Amino acid sequence: AKSAGRNTYKFFTAEMNLQVRERLELENLLRQAEARNELSVHYQPQVELAGGRLIGCEALLRWHAGERGNIPPDRFIPVAEDTGLIVPIGRWILKTACAQAQAWRQAGLGDLQVAVNASAVQLHHGDFVETVATVLAETGLPPDLLEIELTESTLMTDADSAAATLRALKVLGVGLAIDDFGTGYSSLAYLKRFQLDRLKIDRSFINDLPADKDDANITRTIVGIARNLGLSVLAEGVETPAQHQFLLEHGCDEGQGYLFSRPLPAGSMEALLRATG
Ligand code: C2E
Ligand code: CA
Ligand code: CA
Ligand code: CA
Repeated sequence: AKSAGRNTYKFFTAEMNLQVRERLELENLLRQAEARNELSVHYQPQVELAGGRLIGCEALLRWHAGERGNIPPDRFIPVAEDTGLIVPIGRWILKTACAQAQAWRQAGLGDLQVAVNASAVQLHHGDFVETVATVLAETGLPPDLLEIELTESTLMTDADSAAATLRALKVLGVGLAIDDFGTGYSSLAYLKRFQLDRLKIDRSFINDLPADKDDANITRTIVGIARNLGLSVLAEGVETPAQHQFLLEHGCDEGQGYLFSRPLPAGSMEALLRATG
């Protein structure tokens, strides 16, 4: 038993070393990613569920790390957050997405709202509001065409300071959405405190619709909450016509997911805008 224990211990140390090294390597690569032009933004269409009309898009970061290929955001965003690299990278995303939306407007492709994710580290970094204001001024994008997506846990980390930041963002005129809704620990009292415009129902609740009765009830409840608070409500991860149908029947306004489109590189998004004119 003793030697087994020692082996297990060794095994875990080796595993941990590997993880630490991988993380360090990722961190070093990430530091250079922007300068090496390895970062790009993809855009995923958001549609009105009733008519299919395109109402906006979500900006999603992509990293092509040279020979290592594409590294998914779920792997590198946590590293970027832990190291603070998310602050400069987040600024770059914001600027890129706003400049893109403005370029599409000026090309006569319509006023498409662009939603940009912001993590807690960014929100609580002193100059977030200033960064947003500067990007809007520099790109010329009307503030109401930018939406910032925040998760419940981001809002709950230092809720007082988050509320103040959100108020300042509302003064600028940008839209505010709560992301992955239903997976965090926010209470309705808290929701009322933040001046939100939209709830995004987490895709884990949409996945097993319409068969899963619990998920069906949760989805109906979230749509009801949004209604009662006067917020628009968007379902994430809509993949099937049956999910689309269920959401329509239960009063969900908007959707996003593979059924409508995968996240697209800017060029393909532009082609879609031209095609749907
Ligand atoms: P998220 O904000 O919840 O973004 C939605 C994720 O769901 C995206 O994954 C998108 O590609 C994926 N998705 C969209 N429709 C479907 C669908 O129908 N089915 C399934 N299975 N998935 C769908 P992605 O791009 O890999 O991003 C993962 C997460 O990484 C995001 O989750 C977000 O938390 C984070 N992230 C991505 N880009 C950024 C960014 O620019 N800044 C920050 N702070 N976080 C980002
Ligand atoms: Ca999001
Ligand atoms: Ca989400
Ligand atoms: Ca389920």
